[in-house]
Amino acid sequence: VLGLGVLVEDITERKHAEEERAHLYREAQDAIRVRDDFLSIASHELKTPLTPLSLRLATLERRLERGEHVDPGVLRHARHQLTRLTGLINDLLDASRIEAGRLALHPEVTRFDVLVEHTLTSLEGQRGNHVFDFKPPPDPVSVHGDAYRLEQVVLNLLENALKYSPDGGTIRVRLTVNEDVTVLSVNDPGIGIPEDQQQQLFDRYFRARNASTRSYGGLGLGLYISRDIVERHGGRIWVESESGRGSTFFVALPTLSAARPPLPRAQGDR
Ligand code: ADP
Repeated sequence: VLGLGVLVEDITERKHAEEERAHLYREAQDAIRVRDDFLSIASHELKTPLTPLSLRLATLERRLERGEHVDPGVLRHARHQLTRLTGLINDLLDASRIEAGRLALHPEVTRFDVLVEHTLTSLEGQRGNHVFDFKPPPDPVSVHGDAYRLEQVVLNLLENALKYSPDGGTIRVRLTVNEDVTVLSVNDPGIGIPEDQQQQLFDRYFRARNASTRSYGGLGLGLYISRDIVERHGGRIWVESESGRGSTFFVALPTLSAARPPLPRAQGDR
């Protein structure tokens, strides 16, 4: 009886080990698939601005050679494609810095209301017929943070709001402050996010079906980078959304008086 017991135990243990191995194998396969998908999406996204860019440069070259008038619009479009390309490459670099724990923060006292206003202004040329509705609070709002990185977070939320909502829609931006937390919210009347995918939005490479199946461009890195930046400021980022009915993204940061001591600096640079 004792011998049988030992045998059963042995078989059970071996079975567990086998299951564990199978599980690890499946996880590794998944990770490889995600990376492969990402590489093909990334190459496509990086290549897309290149074709119009080189066409426009060729047109420009031809006109200049013939001594013809050059339309500044051609140059503007070319610059726009370059900006897009630079943005994608910066996101790739930031994601790999985060992976390596080398995304440096340079925190200082920052006027967050001014930063939001400034970011909205920088999007004037990109907003098409969208309306930005922003009401800054009556008193100045300061946080302890890296202005460059926080602006990147705000820009990402606003660009997503523009990208995933119909032209002409109103994007509502609010800033509320209490003793402990300063909360920024960005609301759009766009395509929304299915509930079962809302948790994953902030994962690396993740693109919800709402975006991937309707061929909106993107690398799925913006929210991943934003979450890292916000959390390293002692804050939190989350979303409330309903499919087809728009989304509201929230960023909560410690109010300056409640902020923790300066953040540890990572090695490396921007
Ligand atoms: P990207 O926009 O480049 O795909 P992000 O990390 O910024 O990457 O966003 C991840 C995913 O979250 C997007 O692919 C999209 O599915 C979803 N998403 C983000 N913002 C919005 C929004 N305002 N409305 C609807 N879906 C959104």
